[in-house]
Amino acid sequence: MRSMPASTSASDVLQGQWSDGRSSRLRAVEVSRVDEVLQAALGDELHRWPLAGIRISPRLGRTPRTLTLPDGGRIELPDSPVLDAWFPMPPSRVEAVADWLERRKYAIAAAAAITVAVIVGFVQFGLPWGARKIAERLPPVVERSASDQVVRVLEQFHVQPTQLSEARQAALQAQFGKLVAGEPRADQMRLVLVDAAGIGPNAFALPDGRIYMTDELVELAESDDEVLAVLAHEAGHHVHRHGMRGAIESSSVFVLAGLMLGDATGSSLTVSVPATLLSNGFSRGHEREADQYAFALLKRHGRSPKDFATLMSRLMKAHGMDEGDDAVIGYISTHPPSQERVRAAEAAAASP
Ligand SMILES: [Zn+2]
Repeated sequence: MRSMPASTSASDVLQGQWSDGRSSRLRAVEVSRVDEVLQAALGDELHRWPLAGIRISPRLGRTPRTLTLPDGGRIELPDSPVLDAWFPMPPSRVEAVADWLERRKYAIAAAAAITVAVIVGFVQFGLPWGARKIAERLPPVVERSASDQVVRVLEQFHVQPTQLSEARQAALQAQFGKLVAGEPRADQMRLVLVDAAGIGPNAFALPDGRIYMTDELVELAESDDEVLAVLAHEAGHHVHRHGMRGAIESSSVFVLAGLMLGDATGSSLTVSVPATLLSNGFSRGHEREADQYAFALLKRHGRSPKDFATLMSRLMKAHGMDEGDDAVIGYISTHPPSQERVRAAEAAAASP
């Protein structure tokens, strides 16, 4: 009955004290391991328990270790490295908690990062996408109403009828009409020539298709080609509905807040249209989009985007601008020219 398997060496036998877990009686015991089984020799008796069913007390300094057996019995043993081999310790409770927190920490950090990414993504992509969808569905009366408000604001800048000769006006109107004929939303486009010393060289597209251009800008241009290049850019703003899209984008937060606070009229949206068009200008993304549209349109008409670059450069030089300096008035304040845009126009002119 008492047979020690060959796989157990003498060094793997530990001497300890066994109790049945019910009485305080202790008996000397020789403990050894055979594969995944713990063997305990109690005198002539040989007991076996699967290792997996045995709990071992944690190591506390050099105090003895206690094995709690599946049948409720206990074996007390002096601490020994052999026990570590028999019972590979899972991480301690504290270590497990620390480990859990560590994983949790990354989960929390990941959740925060995802939240930030979602918000950034919404503002960067979701908001413009939504604004475009909304702008495409706005009835013309809304575009007209928003544009009328811009015109009312313009009146404060003493905008007068153009001083250009009838012939000059007719020529510019004819060239503009020819340039945008057949373009999307061209039916709504109307060139409005004005004299506006108060706002200087300027051109801007209103949401309903009215494209304002000041005599001051016509005078600054050294050719009709340059004038047409600017008008092509403004046409791009109208084709891409940048007026309403920009107003919706910049006012969405206020509109949402207004709706939550009980302003269901969306009045903050209409207020923001003149503000967007006249003070903030279009976003750089919208400017780039209008530029790209203009370059393609000019080339389709055998014109060159170089004209746009030339006028942009002259505007920058006239205002003594450095790259990145947007703090100037007139056309520049709503259409910040930059070396980047000039280079883009020159690149477009050079490409087939
Ligand atoms: Zn623009």
